[in-house]
Amino acid sequence: MTKPVFRFAPSPNGRLHLGHAYSALLNARMAAEASGRFLLRMEDIDTARCTPELEQAIYDDLHWLGLSWEEPVRRQSEHFAEYRNALTRLADEGLVYPAFLSRAQVHSLINDAHAKGTPWPTDPDGAPLYPPNERNLTEQQQLEFMATGAPYAWRLDMEKALAATGEPLFWNESGAGPQGETGRVAANPADWGDVVIARKDTPTSYHLSVVVDDALQGVTHIVRGRDLFHATSVHRLLQRLLDLPEPLYHHHDLVLAGDGFKLSKSRRDTSLEGLREQGWTPDDIYARLKL
Ligand code: GLU
Repeated sequence: MTKPVFRFAPSPNGRLHLGHAYSALLNARMAAEASGRFLLRMEDIDTARCTPELEQAIYDDLHWLGLSWEEPVRRQSEHFAEYRNALTRLADEGLVYPAFLSRAQVHSLINDAHAKGTPWPTDPDGAPLYPPNERNLTEQQQLEFMATGAPYAWRLDMEKALAATGEPLFWNESGAGPQGETGRVAANPADWGDVVIARKDTPTSYHLSVVVDDALQGVTHIVRGRDLFHATSVHRLLQRLLDLPEPLYHHHDLVLAGDGFKLSKSRRDTSLEGLREQGWTPDDIYARLKL
């Protein structure tokens, strides 16, 4: 029997905070309890914001917490060709399109709609959906836009993608969503509209690289914060479109700061480095996280 595979997948674009510590420790504990493997993956597709220094700081923080993981660590920035292959496959099936609208153009379309009293749909994170205007550009029009040198992203044509899967998608949740959703959860990828598959500045996106890597690394159990619960709908859709296996999901509680606010990478008071400097020990961290 193959062993369960767990992973912690931080982005080295800031210092780890208590929430990351919780996620990493929970992954490692669940892996140990299941006699499984524990992997670490650097989600560093944003090569402008991710730095080798921040990556090293993650290793230092995780070692300080007493964690160890399998080597080598997979770095997404070294695998753009694999994400490109997945993008090409979606393009060959006509499921993605080049999207040229700038942020300002999108805002002006939304403002026009609001001025006419038409509400504009938002995604589960509250961001406005991308206008689907460019879904039906002809190939000739696409090439003309590209020839102007205007930057473009590749976006999923959500309508075509849903038609291609043909049947409702679900996942198996052993944690819980924001409304307590657990067990067999229905995926609602349409809530996200035409999601970015490859960004303007990098040949992939979070959604694409996360599903490609989880499959390539044989990840069977995805344990991560509840803030990514709704993104799972997009991940299940991409897994189906790319014929990738379906992992099990466990979305865990988010750790809140002492003042009840959300933790963020810019807050020093809850970064592991800041706490260490204040004299916290790894045992203090486990106690604070009730682990
Ligand atoms: N890299 C993501 C983050 O730091 C986590 C991705 C995942 O666990 O699926 O928020």
